[in-house]
Amino acid sequence: MEYWDKAPRRRDQIVLFAPTLEDSISEDHPVRLLEEILRQRDWSDWEVEYDGTRGRPPIPPWVMAGVILYGLMRRVRSSHILEYLCTHSIDYVWLVEGRTLDYSTICKFRSRFRKPLKDLFRQVVKVGMRMGLVTLLKVAFDGTRVKANASRSQTWTAEKLEVVADTREDRQTLPAVDRIEENFGAKPEAEWANLPRNGRKKLAASCFVYDAEADCYYCPLGRVLHCERTKHEPGWEAQRLYRAQDCSGCPLAAVCRDPHAKRGRTILRDAHEPSRERMYQRMHSPEGQATYALRMHAAETPFAFIKFAMGVRQFLLRGLAKVRTEWLWICTAYNLRKLLTAVGRLRAKFAKMVVETTS
Ligand code: SF4
Repeated sequence: MEYWDKAPRRRDQIVLFAPTLEDSISEDHPVRLLEEILRQRDWSDWEVEYDGTRGRPPIPPWVMAGVILYGLMRRVRSSHILEYLCTHSIDYVWLVEGRTLDYSTICKFRSRFRKPLKDLFRQVVKVGMRMGLVTLLKVAFDGTRVKANASRSQTWTAEKLEVVADTREDRQTLPAVDRIEENFGAKPEAEWANLPRNGRKKLAASCFVYDAEADCYYCPLGRVLHCERTKHEPGWEAQRLYRAQDCSGCPLAAVCRDPHAKRGRTILRDAHEPSRERMYQRMHSPEGQATYALRMHAAETPFAFIKFAMGVRQFLLRGLAKVRTEWLWICTAYNLRKLLTAVGRLRAKFAKMVVETTS
């Protein structure tokens, strides 16, 4: 039947001049540019990490780094899939020049080189600066949640997380302050339902107003919480514990404190609280709002890109140090991808100009 498309190349076709690896990759393929950028840098800080006298000759670090970064740019993170691609996908085969990479080697390499990787990250940014693609105008901070790859035994319980969320996050701002009646007076009851809640559905710490002079908090009812003691927990910064002395007859008690608690509501405050409060004030000024609008684009676009385009929804590695290293790989790949896109555009523009001037 002649209806079906004929295969342009039969599997048993013998060719007189077999195409080289070099011929298989087009001139403007991003893998070429990536390799060019990686080759140009000095890899001596990576090379010192190798023994150099024992074992099989190692795969050069620029090849290993290239595979991991190129994989991240192509939404491939699994070391098993990278191993497969290095023998079956022509762009990867070109990048590794026909070498065979074992998945365990990729895995170990990924978590091993944090310090020199930092330098690679800096150098990629510097390349962007030299090309005029990056300007250092403002520093923007933002955060995003990426699923951890934690062992079940090390996972925090919902209870512990709620305590941390209450003591660390809810106090970052004072959103309720604006709505709490002047001079910490009693709130109209209709407004109480709108007061922010923490993870345990109780009044968030942001409902309480701190008085720096008196070193105490005032609750929404205007009752005072004095500092009772300083908590020292291993792995955490010291926190001052403020407690309400008298919660008797409070109409908010059901939503403010534990029904089984024998004593008054508590609030924790650490050394960073003044900075958070200053930040809140700044963010609610007109200049702060304008800067925030700028930050939304500067800091949130990369997160969106990393999560959606690069598919980073969960870390592969475990432990804070390794996760930091993995995140550094991801950020370096993100910057490289932006860089390659910009360079690709510049090249296309240049090629168009050349065609226009010669025709
Ligand atoms: S329970 Fe205590 S701290 Fe909470 S609002 Fe009532 S009086 Fe204030």
